[in-house]
Amino acid sequence: MLWWFGLALLGYVKLPRLVPLFPRDVMEAVQLRKENPDAEYLAGGTALIPLLKSGAYRAGKLIDLSRLKELRYIRVGDGVIRIGPLATHADITNNTALRSINAFQNFAKGYTSPAVMNSATVGGSIAIASHTEDLIPILLALNTELTLLTPDGGKLVVELEKYVKEHNKLKEYLILEVAFKLPASGVLCDFEKLALGISRIPLSSVAVRVELDRGRVNGATVAVAQAYGTRPGRVREVEELLKRREITEELIGEAANKIKQSISPPEDTQASSWYRRELAASLFTRIMRREVEHG
Ligand SMILES: Cc1cc2nc3c(=O)[nH]c(=O)nc-3n(C[C@H](O)[C@H](O)[C@H](O)COP(=O)(O)OP(=O)(O)OC[C@H]3O[C@@H](n4cnc5c(N)ncnc54)[C@H](O)[C@@H]3O)c2cc1C
Repeated sequence: MLWWFGLALLGYVKLPRLVPLFPRDVMEAVQLRKENPDAEYLAGGTALIPLLKSGAYRAGKLIDLSRLKELRYIRVGDGVIRIGPLATHADITNNTALRSINAFQNFAKGYTSPAVMNSATVGGSIAIASHTEDLIPILLALNTELTLLTPDGGKLVVELEKYVKEHNKLKEYLILEVAFKLPASGVLCDFEKLALGISRIPLSSVAVRVELDRGRVNGATVAVAQAYGTRPGRVREVEELLKRREITEELIGEAANKIKQSISPPEDTQASSWYRRELAASLFTRIMRREVEHG
């Protein structure tokens, strides 16, 4: 034990002492969380471990979900995709049904670290509920629903949009399943992001789902990573503007301007809020032009 304190004093041990807990199933996992207020769920560890190392986040115990193999799946049935929270980002990019959606192809193309992709999980990304996670705008655009397990073991189905908005309250719940409808033919779903080479965190990212009928928009969902500060969200004003309109270069320009007016991205050392608004508008334009060309 003394050697551990010695190494810690010399700065070689960065992680605080943590007690690992190994639930046998999800019910035991939520029970452990209820009994241990200082415990945190651990999935791939790609976000949590660096946060614990840096001291930005504190926990006394880790409830290791990674052994619950039944939580790692991607199933397609009746036009719905169901994803277990332990499915990794690599599982997403390797899945045939998901690969048929442009947004997931671009998610894979823009991924900053193949090594992280093998460990990072879908549940972990959603639980972070922040602009750092590329999957969130994509899943928002796809009208995703989450099944959560409450501390008493009850199931709660919520829209991802609500989960992100009410994250402070809902983050205590275990994410049990992620589900969305597979876009039908004629429904386009695409994603674009821009990240600086020195950072894995995008300056902005945008996902759009458009249902077209002979060049007219039947319905659209538009999501931006930094829509409201660092919180990702849908941009309803743009969705309304696009509805039942014919897609033309003028409409795309009008909608891009609406994005700039509607979002309120943060300002930091990498980019100003103004730059992020312009960027979101130009990523949106790029997606829409591509869709018009291929649509
Ligand atoms: C170098 C690097 C490059 C990256 N590049 C990208 C990229 O290009 N694109 C991208 O989108 N992301 C990227 N990421 C982000 C990374 O993919 C996410 O941090 C990751 O998805 C988190 O998942 P995890 O399984 O590692 O979560 P963990 O670190 O294990 O946990 C994160 C949080 O989620 C909670 N949690 C985990 N599972 C559940 C659950 N089932 N229910 C409730 N809460 C849960 C934990 O308690 C914790 O608070 C990168 C990360 C790194 C370090």
